[in-house]
Amino acid sequence: MFEKFVKEKALPKYKIDQLYQQFYQSNIDSWDALTTWSLEERENLKKEIPFSTLNNFEEFISKDKRTIKTLSLTKEGYPVETVLMKSKERNTLCISCMSGCPVGCKFCATGQMKFNKPLTSSEIIDQIMYFKRKLNSSKENITNIVFMGMGEPMLNLNNVVDAINIIIDPKRIGLGRRRITVSTVGYIDQLKKFLDKDLGVKVAISLHAPTQKLRESLMPTVAKDNTLEDLIDLLITYQKKRNKKITYEYLLLKDVNDTVEHAKELAKLLRNQIALVNLINFNPSKELPFQPSSRKRIIAFQEVLDSREINNTLRYSYGNEINAACGQLANIKPEASS
Ligand code: SF4
Repeated sequence: MFEKFVKEKALPKYKIDQLYQQFYQSNIDSWDALTTWSLEERENLKKEIPFSTLNNFEEFISKDKRTIKTLSLTKEGYPVETVLMKSKERNTLCISCMSGCPVGCKFCATGQMKFNKPLTSSEIIDQIMYFKRKLNSSKENITNIVFMGMGEPMLNLNNVVDAINIIIDPKRIGLGRRRITVSTVGYIDQLKKFLDKDLGVKVAISLHAPTQKLRESLMPTVAKDNTLEDLIDLLITYQKKRNKKITYEYLLLKDVNDTVEHAKELAKLLRNQIALVNLINFNPSKELPFQPSSRKRIIAFQEVLDSREINNTLRYSYGNEINAACGQLANIKPEASS
């Protein structure tokens, strides 16, 4: 991407500013539109770096038009999925940091597809730029970014951190730090390194089970060596140091982790923490052997958390029919497309 180009060519500061302003903030759609540079400079730039590291974007739009999923390809031809979720107050972009995922959580469609590669920071940023340009045409912008698409951010830490630095830089994308959420299943060593960087972004932990045994059965790759006890210890230490709230993602799977007993275990695990539990009902997928929780079960689960003063919310699930909802990104082309 051109951050490397800028360094190598030792461009003067005003040239870099022009490049950043036009690309990231004016949302130009090709190097030809970089009109603050001379024709010769533009031609040289074109020879050296592609305008986008992702191509062949295909769009899939939900019936209510609130969710747009794209499927794009890296230069090696690997699929990358990105999802825009629109509401009255915000336009949240869910981005991928890998093509596929090596972690293989049992409830996640991405984890069942082939792992191709971690994405470069440019491939992460080009997902954002595609939607920035798209929204710009209707005078809208992205208001929030979540690293919750394909892949585990802690297993692609350097590229994720480089991308975050571009997103928060006021001269580049310039989004507020607290508008960015990084979701992780909890690789402890990498998470510690990430938290120590103190980037000021929000962190969400994909918990999904209140006990070590259950977590190991649902997320064996990560949970065996990164125990729930160690993970919670790290998060409590972080909270004491920084006084920041931690969000826990908890996918409700019928008869697996959604009973009143599970809710009690969860409340016990999170007592004494500044925590928010985001409950997400499972989005059924042909490839996965799970079912969503019933409404009755969810109410009972929330009642237990409420009675123990654990902040919780049931998250609206976007884009189910276009396979754009949580855990459904698996290079599957939906029937409802445009
Ligand atoms: S939940 Fe996250 S870490 Fe687990 S397989 Fe899916 S994408 Fe990978």
